[in-house]
Formats: sequence, C-alpha cells, structure tokens
Amino acid sequence: MSGAVSRRALLFALGGVGLLAGCGDDHATWHSAGDIPGDSHEGDSASPDVTDSASPLVVPPANKPTAGVCPPPPGVVQKSGGPQYSLPCHGTNIALTVDDGPDPTYTPRMLDLLAQQGIRATFCMIGRSAAAHPDLVKRVLDGGHHIANHTFSHPLNIAKMAAGAVHAEMAKATDAIAKASGGNYRPALFRSPGGAWSSTVLGQCGNLGLRPLDWSVDPRDWSRPGVQHIVTTILTKTHPGSIILEHDGGGNREQTLTALGIVLPRLRDAGYTFAQP
Ligand SMILES: [Zn+2]
Repeated sequence: MSGAVSRRALLFALGGVGLLAGCGDDHATWHSAGDIPGDSHEGDSASPDVTDSASPLVVPPANKPTAGVCPPPPGVVQKSGGPQYSLPCHGTNIALTVDDGPDPTYTPRMLDLLAQQGIRATFCMIGRSAAAHPDLVKRVLDGGHHIANHTFSHPLNIAKMAAGAVHAEMAKATDAIAKASGGNYRPALFRSPGGAWSSTVLGQCGNLGLRPLDWSVDPRDWSRPGVQHIVTTILTKTHPGSIILEHDGGGNREQTLTALGIVLPRLRDAGYTFAQP
C-alpha cells in the first residue's frame, strides 16, 4: 500500500474531527479554584494550529520505522539513568498514563471508558487521594491497570526538595497505595509531579526501588485547553513508543474524558496497541 493511499484512507477515517471546533473551549487554567497544577514539562508549550481542523493525522504504525531510538520530547535531554520518556520505539505499542487521581467523580468514568475500549492504562496516583478512596484504588487494579507512585501530596517542585522530604513523599505514597489496595500492590513506577527531576529525586527512586517514568505526548489537558486541542495534540504527536499524559484528578476533567472518548478508538483503529511502561 502506498503512503498516499493509506493517508487518504486515514483522512476518511478521521473525517469527524472537524466537527469538534469550539467544543468546551473555556481556556481555564490551573489557577482556577479547585485545580492543582498539572504535569507539564517547562517550555513544552508548543501546540499545533487548532484552527486547522483538517490537520489531525494519526500516522499508522505501518508507515513508521519499525526500529530505532525514540527521541525525547522537545526541550528534554535524555540522560543515561534518567526517567523513561518512551516505550521501546518499534512495533505498535503506546502507553496511556492518567495522573492526579483517584478522584471520586472522574476516575470511575475514566475506568468505564477504558473498559469500553478494552484499554489498560497506568494510573499515577497521589498517595493522600489513594488513602481517601481505597475503593477506587481497588477498582483500578481490578480493571487490570497499573498504579504508579505520584508522591503523597503532589508538591509544586519536588526537584527543589531535600532528600529526606523527597523520600517521605515517595515512601508515604507507596504505603498509602499498598494499604488502599488491601496490602497486595506496591507501585513499581514513580512519576514526578510536573516532570520535575533532580539527582536527589532519581536517587530516592533508586533507594525505594521505583523506576522513574515521564511522558512524551502532553496535550496539557489539566489546563482545560478545549477538547479539540487535546484531540489534535494526541493525534498529531503520537508515534510508536509514545507515552501519553492525561489526568483524572486535580480539577474538572470533562474535556479530558470527552477527548479520550474520541481519541482512543481512533488510535486503536490506526493500529496502535496499548501497553504499560
Ligand atoms: Zn500530577
């Protein structure tokens, strides 16, 4: 099949994207009451032109190189021993990560959506929220999803904290998640709030047996940029190996859920498979 033919077929498959213009675009930010700052790389604010509704393209895995090294996201230097930004960059695997829950309003709806699509994700949970909602922790695990440690209290910049405080944030979160799970589950992964990494944070990951996990596709859904922006960013930036960042907590996540309801079936139709980091 030629690239031109497959692209035409794909454009046909994606024909509904243009209908999204104007959906729920309230331009809210994390300064809104009730929101906590989301997870975003500093300086990683580039976004596609969302006014061009014909632009979203999922490049199917068959059209991508089948081997190679995934590049880190823009503005990020991949260091040896540093956090993981991508899955192995071959085949059809991508990963969905869902941060800042569990949340009694949005986590159940996220779980329903993922079950409907047959997709397993990694939920990066805040320890104190896990402690408050053990029923949701169990539901996430019962759904076949993984849970990552996302600190106990989601500090603004853990990269500036001293080793003792970093250790406490991580250890308390692991304990809270383990207790909420009934004692059987201990996270293997650590996602730093805001993607803030330091040698201290990475060192404490090592001390606690946690593997540092980052991401490569970030539509900044936490800032509520509009459904179309979230859809467009994911569809245009996802490649084999991508780790996608979304949120089920930290504020109103209606846009996230609406966007994922559109994006997830399209990624699957394009041939991607969902794996866990
Ligand atoms: Zn977070």
